[in-house]
Amino acid sequence: IYGPNRRNSQGVNLNIRSQYQPLMDEMAAFMDKEHHVKPLLAFEVTDAPANTHEVLCPFDRRVRVGNVQWTTQEQASRAVDAAWTAFPRWDATPVAERAAIIRRLAELMEAHMAELMTLCSREGGKLLTDGVDEIREAVDFCRYYAMRAEELFGDATRLPGPTGESNELMLAGKGVFAAISPWNFPVAIFCGQVMAAAVAGNTVLAKPAEQTSLVAHRVIELLYEAGMPRDVVQLLPGDGPTVGSVLTSDPRITGVVFTGGTDTAQIINRALAAREGAALPTLIAETGGMNAMIVDSTALPEQVVADVIQSAFQSAGQRCSALRVLYLQEDVADRVIDILKGAMDELHVGDPRDLGTDVGPVIDEDARKGLSAHIETLKGEGRLVAETKLDPAHTTHGTFVAPVAFEIDGIDALEREQFGPILHIVRYKAEEIDAVIESINSRRYGLTFGVHSRNESFAEAIAQKIRVGNVYVNRNIIGAVVGVQPFGGQGLSGTGPKAGGPHYLLRFATEKTLTINT
Ligand code: GLU
Repeated sequence: IYGPNRRNSQGVNLNIRSQYQPLMDEMAAFMDKEHHVKPLLAFEVTDAPANTHEVLCPFDRRVRVGNVQWTTQEQASRAVDAAWTAFPRWDATPVAERAAIIRRLAELMEAHMAELMTLCSREGGKLLTDGVDEIREAVDFCRYYAMRAEELFGDATRLPGPTGESNELMLAGKGVFAAISPWNFPVAIFCGQVMAAAVAGNTVLAKPAEQTSLVAHRVIELLYEAGMPRDVVQLLPGDGPTVGSVLTSDPRITGVVFTGGTDTAQIINRALAAREGAALPTLIAETGGMNAMIVDSTALPEQVVADVIQSAFQSAGQRCSALRVLYLQEDVADRVIDILKGAMDELHVGDPRDLGTDVGPVIDEDARKGLSAHIETLKGEGRLVAETKLDPAHTTHGTFVAPVAFEIDGIDALEREQFGPILHIVRYKAEEIDAVIESINSRRYGLTFGVHSRNESFAEAIAQKIRVGNVYVNRNIIGAVVGVQPFGGQGLSGTGPKAGGPHYLLRFATEKTLTINT
């Protein structure tokens, strides 16, 4: 189900070496490369060795993948000047031309799949299987938004009116967008944000996560190769206090699209609101989650465990959508936990480039320390249920955290989201179900949620009551597909727009009504 014999929904073994071998052969050419990158701005950037930061490989910290020259505050302000100047020209560019550039990027990313996957793995610690999904999702975002842009931004919509009056509604870009993206989907979410903003007619200042600037840099190089003007999309590597703060305090920034922690979204929101003389901003934020799954006594334990393992531990639990709290009805709890222990024993933690690996490293030392502290606390309280073994031969030099499961009393026992392979289990009695739903809703996070039950009306009733963006019934709760499962949360989990959904581009657009008395 998972592990070395991972199968897809059609029962095809996804780990057949021959399927990946050609890609792995191609990846070999990029494995030892050291990358040295600088900001990609509308103007030339001179070398500044003192402002250069090392990128170390998460699964082997002895390996330097490259280094990144961060953007200075002065460069960031000049980049805003260029984006501001370019906006009217880009917004007036026919949408078909804008979409064609984004579609060419999709083709180029497919052609450079092995290179991008190598960077995802060496810089971001991604498994090969996750890397393939990542690039495909990025490609899907490009093609989907290009298609939706042509549908939405093409012809104006004619509206009714009295004789002698014509009324039309048209869409246009809003202005200059800052795109602040996370390290956990360094190509897919990065591309999704930047391409949505750009294809809608906005100019974009993209600030990638500090941890994954190298792969973002390669994507923007490919975007320029696809024909994107340099002043329309610029890349500003750097950290929040230096680059992010310039972007969120400049009154010319019309909107920010952000994926990351809830705390950071709140800082951005306050900074945008505090700007004197700025137009009222748009904030599109996709933030954290405290995602739960409820399993009732009619569920199939084997299927539950397969879906729990994927939801909690795939991508080392480093997905906003990942399962954090599993509610098991007491009649099935022991059986599910038994099978779960067996499945966790089978997981292999290690080098993400090895096809037999199920769980790669967490992103960096800070992440490892934070997760370990939480694990130690719960172990100290005697709450451990199961833990996968770490083999030192494969994990000594990287930032690894073994998948682990604990029993806790309820979701309220958790102070904050733990962004890693840590599963919390809560037992509940059938008559407590309303209280369970209430406690999940009252945390005010609302991203993903799962139900496992063969009682359809139970599953439907719960899906109805839970306040989240994405509900999954009788399956895992990760891996939303572009155009199929529009993704995004509510409450503390985000401002609501659904990435990969039909309405997403509208959030990057302004509407203009034109009335003519003929
Ligand atoms: N869209 C991803 C999924 O469905 C999660 C994105 C994220 O982690 O922000 O798994």
